[in-house]
Amino acid sequence: MTTALYPGSFDPVTNGHLDIVSRASGIFEKLILGVYDAPPKNLLFTTEERVAMAKQSVLHLRNVEVVTYTGLTVHFAQKVGAQVFVRGLRQGSDFEFEFELALMNRMLAPEIDSAFLMTANEYQFLSSSLLKEAARMGGDIEGLVPEHVAKALIERLKAQS
Ligand code: ADP
Repeated sequence: MTTALYPGSFDPVTNGHLDIVSRASGIFEKLILGVYDAPPKNLLFTTEERVAMAKQSVLHLRNVEVVTYTGLTVHFAQKVGAQVFVRGLRQGSDFEFEFELALMNRMLAPEIDSAFLMTANEYQFLSSSLLKEAARMGGDIEGLVPEHVAKALIERLKAQS
């Protein structure tokens, strides 16, 4: 069985991430969405909130599991027996970063390979940080995140202002 790990902060999960998740879940037998348990300083949502939003978003995908982790991503991948990292690619700058990350991961864990899925056209401009920026300024975020995420985002930003 091929297990793939899709790691990230997912602060919050967007339709761009979910497009990668649903396509990867059709390729690999098991997909683990790894929510990085980062120190909360630059994040809008707690780890528990990010996990809960991601879980609710993938309920319809039976071979996808949402798990939180700390420490080195390769160590977590080894722990869960993942053979592949899944990452998404948007514009050129993603490529440079992802290229370096993949080579570093390969050096740390040569038995795990990286697979890259190209973003869908409609999500190529979408990142969690730009989404939060747009929502903070009152922009319409419909179609960019699932409804429950939009609601949580709007509530959190309202509470902060
Ligand atoms: P990080 O926490 O590493 O900054 P994110 O949690 O935002 O990254 O994203 C995790 C992965 O999802 C990365 O590989 C990123 O390139 C990819 N990704 C983010 N947004 C999109 C999108 N709109 N389309 C495709 N891939 C995306």
